[in-house]
Amino acid sequence: MRTVAVMFLALLAPLPAGAINVFSCEPEWGSLVRELAGELAELTIATTAFQDPHRLEAKPSLIAAIRKADLVVCTGADLEIGWLPLLLRRAGNAAIQSGGPGHFMAADYVRKLETPKIIDRSQGDIHPQGNPHVHLDPRNIRRIADALAQRLAEIDPMNAAAYGARLADFQSRWDTASAEWEGRKTGLVGLRLASHHRSFSYLAAWLDLNIVATLESKPGIPPSGAQLAALLEQLSPNPPVAVIRTPYENEKPSSWLSARLGIPAITLPYTTGSDQMVTDLFALFEETLRSLEDVRQ
Ligand SMILES: [Zn+2]
Repeated sequence: MRTVAVMFLALLAPLPAGAINVFSCEPEWGSLVRELAGELAELTIATTAFQDPHRLEAKPSLIAAIRKADLVVCTGADLEIGWLPLLLRRAGNAAIQSGGPGHFMAADYVRKLETPKIIDRSQGDIHPQGNPHVHLDPRNIRRIADALAQRLAEIDPMNAAAYGARLADFQSRWDTASAEWEGRKTGLVGLRLASHHRSFSYLAAWLDLNIVATLESKPGIPPSGAQLAALLEQLSPNPPVAVIRTPYENEKPSSWLSARLGIPAITLPYTTGSDQMVTDLFALFEETLRSLEDVRQ
């Protein structure tokens, strides 16, 4: 009898998990939500590290997930222009539409690099609002964490104190890690690299890396054979130390150039979940720095 009573009480106990539903477009923001909300959020992440966040199919499973979301956390700056507006239209959910409390675009909280003077989509420019790959600068992560914790508290005021405490804890760990990463910058300053796409501009700005060439002639346009040949000729007299790309980018152009220049082609983690080591944002920066330090050797 006593056992039955205990079981009954257990069924009545409030569920600690999933106070709010969060839909995140990219793994890096999913990881940040995990840091700031923990078990208070039920999380759906639309892409993996192996999917191009510029292009995604608006699958029914994603529509179902975004329909029940209290908060959408994405990059913005038009990174997801090819699929997020469609998902939002299909969601039938007023709170998460642009301007609503449930619509959080990380790039709104940081200064964008490479803002074009003239926007010309016919030229294939997929970065019309400036470079949207803002997460690879730890200072941006800190600013975005501030804004995101505030937004979580707004959406879920019952747990405002918990979000505040988790933010303070995250930022204290982040500041300690950032100080250690800053100390490793000196060894990497001026490192000359070629990059497939402008995926690492914020990383380069933070570490003072020198990205001497981008394989794509315009963001989102794959390089032609003629363009690669021209790039080879241009880089041959003074080759960069490596060609870098993300896990989701086509490896062929990097491999072609790396073989001819005799330099390594490297896949940097770019976001969380890119391999077993990169389980959170701390590991993302740690692994990125380690890969660059390996190249420098
Ligand atoms: Zn891009």
